[in-house]
Formats: sequence, structure tokens, C-alpha cells
Amino acid sequence: MSGLDAAVAGSEPNGLDAAVVGSGPNGLAAAVVLARAGLRVAVYEAADTIGGGLRGAALFDSEVVHDLCAAVHPMAVASPFFREFGLAGRGVRMERPEISYAHPLDGGRAALAWHDLDATCAGLGPDGPRWRRLIQPLLARSRSLVDLLLSDLRTPAGLGVAPALVSRVLRHGSPLGARHFRGEEASALLAGAAAHTIGPLPSLPGAAVGLLLAQLAHGPGWPLPRGGSSRIAEVLADDIRAHGGVLHTGVEITDLRQLGGVRAVLLDVSPTALLALAGDRLPRGYARALRRYRYGPAAGKADFLVSEPIPWKAADVGRAGTVHLGGTAAEIFRQERANARGLAGERPFVLVVDPAVADPGRARPGRRPVWAYAHLPPGSDRDPLPLIRAAIERYAPGFTDTIVAERGLSGAGYAAYNPNYVGGDIGTGAITLRQSVLRPAPRWNPYRTPLPGVYLCSAATPPGPGVHGMCGLHAARAALRHEFGLPVPPLSP
Ligand SMILES: Cc1cc2nc3c(=O)[nH]c(=O)nc-3n(C[C@H](O)[C@H](O)[C@H](O)COP(=O)(O)OP(=O)(O)OC[C@H]3O[C@@H](n4cnc5c(N)ncnc54)[C@H](O)[C@@H]3O)c2cc1C
Repeated sequence: MSGLDAAVAGSEPNGLDAAVVGSGPNGLAAAVVLARAGLRVAVYEAADTIGGGLRGAALFDSEVVHDLCAAVHPMAVASPFFREFGLAGRGVRMERPEISYAHPLDGGRAALAWHDLDATCAGLGPDGPRWRRLIQPLLARSRSLVDLLLSDLRTPAGLGVAPALVSRVLRHGSPLGARHFRGEEASALLAGAAAHTIGPLPSLPGAAVGLLLAQLAHGPGWPLPRGGSSRIAEVLADDIRAHGGVLHTGVEITDLRQLGGVRAVLLDVSPTALLALAGDRLPRGYARALRRYRYGPAAGKADFLVSEPIPWKAADVGRAGTVHLGGTAAEIFRQERANARGLAGERPFVLVVDPAVADPGRARPGRRPVWAYAHLPPGSDRDPLPLIRAAIERYAPGFTDTIVAERGLSGAGYAAYNPNYVGGDIGTGAITLRQSVLRPAPRWNPYRTPLPGVYLCSAATPPGPGVHGMCGLHAARAALRHEFGLPVPPLSP
């Protein structure tokens, strides 16, 4: 132990069965499962507050909270973990906007994904029936689709929907997809949802994620937790404490030996961090595979305090919780491909959220938060503010005049803010076909590392990024089975 700060785990008064490093949604979900199984659990978080991608802060005004990372949570209502954990039963009110997401186009037009599928189809004109044929069969089996795509991709879940999904993914994950719709609106709606994978498009994983998100828009919707994303972290932490777990903030684990003697260690960290934490103790083949793990493009964020709602030119865009900016599907595909190759463009794909649209309590008179991020080349240290301002101005002239205060965070800034976002990649790993399944390395059980009792539970494992808690649940299940011979306990309130 010499040379180490302290044997952190040894300082726990009652000893520990399991330690979780990192308190993002996956670390917290893992700790919930382990604590409810009756284990003595501690969570160690390097930052001063818990939550990872769920953190919020009053950046400019003590009364106006900004989500620092995730803001919109279709998967926090739909995922198997959260369905059973039950946010509503714990007092988290998910506010669902009537338009899940909007996609403005030049000429004052916009495609609108209403929560109501009929309203969406009506707005898409001749492409309305095509949108319905694409989405309805998935929506009808929405739960199976979610269970399949958020599974560990090893054990069967939701397979009944697979034929409908695969045929659509093959079509929309290839250039053929462009021929499916006649007008620009419907193809932009799908491209905008696929762009959440932040990588070259069209692609098979992009189509799968795009279809998942698009049908969720018409099912549980794309809701925002009343009061901000940190509410989700708070109730997860409350549940851990209620089951005897402890959470420590401001404690960075720098060497796995600090957790020596703990039977199960679950790491909500990147593969790069796992290499550093394990030093030379990892078998060579596994360490080599982790070194080959690829990170994707970066995100650069802008937080604005504005005096009034965003003055969108196209009707009804201001009723949407989320707005995608990037032009037509062809523009988005071109830009995302160039971005992934490191070629910065002047018109990156931008996501904008005005949380007060769904949750009016987030605004104060003359002051409301606006959240936006742009897709930027890997490792980008470019200030995203001018790009994001220009993207919003393109579809909402006069927006800049409403800005009271603003803050930009580059991709490199994100990497410094949270070590899981390597090079500014907020997905903790590129969403390629290979890395959708073999994440982070080719192993039957991707959560179990070759080190005895050490598991990875971050978004670098299947099913990848997003606030769904599923990486944490799958990793905790593996740890419970292999280290303690226990099943996953009930998770409901
Ligand atoms: C700008 C942005 C917008 C996003 N928008 C959305 C959205 O709207 N909806 C959505 O579903 N998802 C969104 N995401 C993605 C989502 O936030 C992530 O996929 C999710 O948070 C990943 O969870 P995680 O638990 O794997 O890791 P993280 O949330 O990244 O948490 C990891 C935690 O571990 C801590 N940590 C790391 N190393 C150590 C160490 N050695 N010792 C102690 N602590 C350590 C970190 O400080 C961090 O708190 C967004 C992300 C960003 C950045």
C-alpha cells in the first residue's frame, strides 16, 4: 500500500462488500442494485457533487438552474431499470412537452415530432403515411424495442420486435434510406434523432438509435424532470442511503489498490481510466484491447440566460422540448461525416433545449435557461459559443439580442470537467457497429474485467451512452452473480 494516499475502503467504519467509483447515472444505478441486495456499499465521486452527467448548477442567477450535461430523458422513463425504480413514485415529476422535438428548416419551415403520432403524420403531408408505416410497428412493440436495444446484447430480450427493427435499420442505416421520404421534413426528423450517436451518418447504429428515439417521441415522450436532471441523481442517492449505502464526494480514486480488500469494485469510468487505475496488473491482451478502444467526436456546450423564449421563425417550434438544428438530412449526414474525420465545419449539428417550455418553473420573469450543444471534431478546443449562436440565429433571428449571460465549454473543456468524456466525447466511446456490441473489448461479459472482482459499469459498456442506468444494472447483476451468488433484488420504491 505504500505510495498510496490511503486505503480508502479500509476507512469505512463497517467494512465494505462493494465499492462504486463514479456517481454518474450508471454508478448510482449499480450502487442502488448492490445496496438493495443487502451489501455494504460505498460510492466514491471525484467531483464535489454527485451525478456525473446529471449535474446541474445555477450558473448566472441563483434562481435559474442549468443542466450541465443531460437535460432530456426519454430513456429515464422507458429503460427497464427506471421502469422498475420508478421516478414518479419517488416524487420526480417528468414534464412531457407536447412536441417531443422539432427540426426547423430554411424558409420558415419545420418538421415537428408531436407526442401525438397522428398530429405528426398530419404535419408531414404526403410523407405522413410513410412516417406512420415506419414508426407505428415499432411503437406498438415499444417496450420490446427498448428492452432489446438497452439489453446487454448477449441475453435475449425483446426479440419479437427484431424483424421489424432490422429491416428498418438496414434501410435507414444506408444511403437507401434517403429515398424513403419525398419531402425534406420527415427525413430531417429521422436524421436528427440518428445524429444523437454523434458520428458518421448514415450508419446502422445511427439508424437503430434514431428509430428508438423517434418512436419514444410518440410513446413516453422526451420529458424533462421538473427542477432539472439532478433530481434523478438525488433520488438514486436517497435510495442508496436508505439501504445503508454511503456516498463520498471529492474523493478521486487513482489506483485500484486504494480499494484493496473490497470484494466487488464497480468502475463508472472510461476504458482509458481503467488502464490507469489498474497500472500493469491487467493482462496484456485486455490492456491492448482497451488501448484500441476508440472515442468519438466531441461536444461543445453553450449555456445561455435569455430574457425571453427563443424567437423561432417557424410556427410551433417554441412548443418543442428539444430542437435539432442542422438543416436537411443530406446536410446533417455531410456535416457529421466531416466532423468525425476531424474537419470542423461552420454549421455543426446543434441540439437546443429551452427547459421552461416543458417546466415553466425553470424560468423567472425575464430570465430563462437555454441549453445547447454542438457536434465538434474529436478533441476540439474551439469555443462553441459563436457556432451555436449562429446556428440558433439561422432559425430564430434576434436570438442573440435576448442573451443576458452566456458560457461556452469546448470539447476539451468537457474532458477536463469529467474524465469520462475523453477528448470531449460525451458518449464515452464512439458508437460504431463494432463498439455497439464489443464495448469496451471483445468479451462475452463486457462488464467483468480480467481482474478478480473488478467490473466496468460506465457508458463504455453496452448499451452505451444515455441516462438509462442499464450499464450499471447489467454490471451489478454480473457482480452479484459472480462475487456473491445473489440475484438482482426488486428495485421498486
Ligand atoms: C452536454 C451533454 C448532454 C447530454 N445530454 C443527454 C440527454 O439529454 N439525455 C441523455 O440521456 N443523455 C445525455 N447525455 C449523456 C449522458 O449524460 C451520459 O451518457 C451519462 O451521464 C453516462 O453516465 P455514466 O454513469 O456512464 O457516466 P458519467 O455520467 O459521465 O459519470 C461518471 C462519474 O464518474 C466520476 N469519476 C470518473 N473517474 C473517477 C475516479 N477515478 N474517481 C472518482 N470518480 C470518478 C466522474 O466525476 C463522474 O461524476 C449528455 C451528456 C453531455 C455531456
